This record gives sequence, C-alpha cells and structure tokens, in this order.
Amino acid sequence: MRLLIVEDEPDLLASLARSTRDEGYAVDTAADGEEGLYKALQSDYDAIVLDVMLPGIDGWEILRRLRIQRRTPVLMLTARDTPRDRVRGLDGGADDYVAKPFDLDELHARLRALIRRASGHPSGRVEIGSVVLETAARTVARDGQLVALTAREYALFEYLALHRGQLVTRTALYEHLFDEDDATLSNLLDVHVSNLRRKLGAEIIATRRGHGYCIEDPGTTP
Ligand code: CA
Repeated sequence: MRLLIVEDEPDLLASLARSTRDEGYAVDTAADGEEGLYKALQSDYDAIVLDVMLPGIDGWEILRRLRIQRRTPVLMLTARDTPRDRVRGLDGGADDYVAKPFDLDELHARLRALIRRASGHPSGRVEIGSVVLETAARTVARDGQLVALTAREYALFEYLALHRGQLVTRTALYEHLFDEDDATLSNLLDVHVSNLRRKLGAEIIATRRGHGYCIEDPGTTP
C-alpha cells in the first residue's frame, strides 16, 4: 500500500513518514500544498494523509480539487477538534480526520481502517482456502500456522488478497508497493511471487501472462 503524506512541519512530516514506513507502507511526501496537490492527482495512492493548514494551497482546497478527479481515501489532520472543522472535512469528501496533537498509534489504526473500507474488506480478514490474511495484525497463516513473510512479500500478498478476484497488473503493483524513491528492478516482483507460492501454496497466485497476477475468487471469473 502506498501513501502520500502532505504536511509542512518538517519534524512531523519526517516522523509520519518514518512511522508509516515502519508499518509497511510505501510513502511519498509533500511539504507544501502545491506539491501535495500535484502528487495527489498524479498517482493512485491507497490513502492520503492531508494537513489542513498548509502554505500555498491549503488542505481544504487540495481535497476539493482532488475530489473532482479521484476518490483516493483521505485522512485530514485538523488543527483543532472543532465541530465546524469536522463538518467541513466530511462534507468536503474527507474520509476521516484526526485532530492535532494526535497519537501515532491512533493515526495508524485509522489509516488501516480507511484502507480496509476502501478495499471492500472492512474486517481486514481475508480467507483464501487454508490461507488467512489479517491486516490489523499484518499476519498470514496457512493451515492455522503463522507464515514468516518479508515486508515486501507481505505487502504484495496483502495487495493481491484485498483485490481478490481482480487482475492486478504489474504496473499497478509498482504503483502501490514502491514509493517514489524506490529503484527496485522489475524482476524482483517475480521473485516475491515465487517466494509467496513456495510459502503459501503453488496455486495461491495465478499469473496472467503479459498482464499481471490474480488471486482467484471462487465467486468470480477475472
Ligand atoms: Ca500545517
């Protein structure tokens, strides 16, 4: 999952970027409104953390312009917790908000919930045969036994599982799993997929030649 964080306070931006990367997200950052709006419109982020008070274009205006083109889930960082700000944020198309100062654990929990809702799996639990993904705990179990995955393997599996029944292109995987500073070689995706098949079962991920990958849903034909 890939996030954009738009925040003009350097220390807060750095700590948000560090802590969300520790949570396993690919993270892009923007330190002012103009850069934030540009990046928000440019890429298909899984969620955007958007500060309200920004120099140049403020968070409300970014949200307004973003919503004309994209439905990316947005978590607003409001200066104070006032009913007026809450109403304005929710009316403006924000999906959630936290008021400053906030607790990082709460922010992470809200982000996870936002991404789960947007993916259509509000419980965060996906069962694929004998394999069970729990996004809140970031665990994958097979036949009731936890399976040790690298951060990249987990991120890839989670993305495919939350889009179960859909063909996920390699391009989409690059866009959602790697951030703007990542210079990973493309063949690494194949390595991660083959590791996942070894750990979770050969049939878990289907390859669509020339197109991408798919975790099949018994109820749909992708
Ligand atoms: Ca600010």
